[in-house]
Amino acid sequence: VIPERLAVVTGGNKGIGLEVCRQLALQGVTVILTARDERRGKDAADSLRSESKLPNLIFHQLDVRCDTSVTSLAQYIESRYGKLDILVNNAAISGIVADEEGLKALNIDAETWTSGRAANLLKEVFQNTYDEAFNCLNTNYYGCKRVTEALLPLLKLSTSGARIVNCSSLASELKRMPNEKLRNDLCNINIWDEDRIEAVLKTFLEDLKNGRLEEAGWPMMLPTYSVSKMVINLYTRIMARRYPEMRINCVRPGFVKTDLCWNLGVLTPEQGARGPVMLALLPDDGPTGCYFDQTEMVKVW
Ligand code: NDP
Repeated sequence: VIPERLAVVTGGNKGIGLEVCRQLALQGVTVILTARDERRGKDAADSLRSESKLPNLIFHQLDVRCDTSVTSLAQYIESRYGKLDILVNNAAISGIVADEEGLKALNIDAETWTSGRAANLLKEVFQNTYDEAFNCLNTNYYGCKRVTEALLPLLKLSTSGARIVNCSSLASELKRMPNEKLRNDLCNINIWDEDRIEAVLKTFLEDLKNGRLEEAGWPMMLPTYSVSKMVINLYTRIMARRYPEMRINCVRPGFVKTDLCWNLGVLTPEQGARGPVMLALLPDDGPTGCYFDQTEMVKVW
C-alpha cells in the first residue's frame, strides 16, 4: 500500500530527529527513520513502534556522508513507494572536539550560550581541528545537499505536495558573521549557487588550516557549525526558488537538551521537534524559502 504521506528523517535515532519521527508518525505520516548506525537506528525504531504504538514507522540505514548509503536509500524508496512527500534534513554534528569535563566546569548558563558571548570562554575547552571541521561541513551542509539531490526525483513525484525541512540554528544568524563583505554577500540571494557556496567553504577550511579564522572575520563561537548552518539557510533559499511548487524552509529548533550541545539546552526534544514538524506538514499555500525560530517565521538575512 502506498501511504498518503511518506517522510524521511535523517539522524532519526536520537535527539530532535527521533522526536520528529514520533510526531510525524503520530500525525499519520509513514516515516522512514534513518540513522548512520544500523543498531542504534533499529533500536530507536523498534522502541517507537512498540512504546508509542506506531506501526507506520520503518527503519533504513543512512549515513549522509556516504554516497552509496544515500543511493541505497533512494533506490529502496523508489522500488517500494515510487515517491516521497517529506524530507527532514536533521542530521548534524558540532565540528568541535570538546573537553567535556572542562566544559561542565565552566557552568555556562543558557543565556550566555545562546547570546554567543561564550565564545571566549569556550576557547579553553573547544578545539577546532581541521578533521572535525571537514567532517562537520561534510555532514551538515554536503550531507543535506547529497540527500536532497538524491531524493529530489522522488519528491517531484509527491502526491500530497513536497516539503523539505532543513535544520538550521541560531548560530546561522548573520549578525554573528564579523566579516562585513561576506555578511553583505550572504544577504544577497541573487548571487548564490552551490558552486559559490563550495568556494566559500573551501576558503573557510583554508583559513582554519592556516590559523586565520579570527583574522579573516569568521564567527568564533562554534565556527564550522555556524558556517555550515549559514550555508544551509542559503541552500534552502536557492532550492525554494528553484522548486516553487515545493515548500522548502529552514528552522532553528530552539536550544534543546541533546548530545549535540552537550545537554546544555533548556527545551526538551519534544519541544524542539515542533518547528520541523509544523514545516513538514505545511499546507500547499504555506511559506517557502523562509527561516523559522521554532514555529515562528523570522527574518535573519
Ligand atoms: P543530536 O546530537 O542529539 O542528534 C544528531 C543526529 O544526527 C544523531 O542521530 C546522529 O547520529 C546524526 N548524525 C550525525 N552524523 C550523521 C551522519 N553522517 N549520517 C547520518 N546521521 C548522522 O543533535 P540534535 O537532536 O540536537 O540536533 C538535530 C538538529 O537540530 C541538528 O541539525 C542541529 O544542528 C539542530 N539544532 C540543535 C540545537 C540544539 O540545541 N540541540 C540548536 C540548533 C539546531 P549518531 O547517533 O550516529 O551520532
